[in-house]
Amino acid sequence: DIRQFVPSDHCLDGKIILVTGAGDGIGRIAALTYARYGATVLLLGRTMSKLEAVYDEIESAGGKQPAMLPMNLEGASYAEMQQLERLIDKEVGQLDGILHNAGILGTLTPLEMYDVDTFDKVMKVNFHATFMLTQALLPLLKSAKNGSVVFTSSTVGTHPRAFWGAYALSKQAVEGMSDIFTQETQNTTNLRFNCINPGATRTNMRAHAYPGENPMSLKTPEEIMPGYVCLMSDASIGTRGQVVALQPKD
Ligand code: NDP
Repeated sequence: DIRQFVPSDHCLDGKIILVTGAGDGIGRIAALTYARYGATVLLLGRTMSKLEAVYDEIESAGGKQPAMLPMNLEGASYAEMQQLERLIDKEVGQLDGILHNAGILGTLTPLEMYDVDTFDKVMKVNFHATFMLTQALLPLLKSAKNGSVVFTSSTVGTHPRAFWGAYALSKQAVEGMSDIFTQETQNTTNLRFNCINPGATRTNMRAHAYPGENPMSLKTPEEIMPGYVCLMSDASIGTRGQVVALQPKD
């Protein structure tokens, strides 16, 4: 069971893993955790100071030297993402995994009144940029021995819910994209695609979505890391096209 996975100390040794939204929330803890299990982590995010703080934490914990990739997924062009692919190829020469974790909530509003500019932004960051980045990095990912692409969904991506608007729709699209990539690649490459649904987790995004909730009632990002490590490690070779829900509570 992916949720009960007990990682061994070196289970990510030798792997190069890119994490988007690595400066805060679940992405930050995923980056620190991947480094702790032996991976070299490429930290992608839009706030440089946050990436620097994660970089320093990894270094002081004795992890492999990470790299910082500042990028705002809201405005980034496909050309910039292709440039990133060439940069990783030249400087690192390998990419084994990508955790597409960056995301924004938008607003909780009925579709009838949903601000169309906000709708665009949410679709761009959560879905469109995720698609472009995946496509741009595919040449590297496909040449990895056992590459793993992990998208981040949400319970409202699996079951659309009133008032969750663009966020729910962007996550539905992400789940569909993971399914299509899986079907299109499963006979031709070892690269696997899966979605993770972290469930209710103690972060800023969750606090914005549920302002009346006691954050202490929620799992921390650290507590859900076994699933994140499993999907990147060779323990999940053979797991393809799944949506892995890490918690019963959503
Ligand atoms: P946070 O808001 O705490 O963190 C989101 C991260 O994404 C931040 O590092 C943020 O960077 C980054 N980010 C946002 N916009 C951009 C952008 N335009 N370009 C680059 N990076 C960006 O959210 P969570 O940690 O809670 O969420 C992580 C993922 O998990 C999301 O995809 C979310 O939808 C999903 N999720 C979370 C749940 C929860 O309960 N927390 C439940 C279900 C799904 P910065 O800090 O610099 O703004």
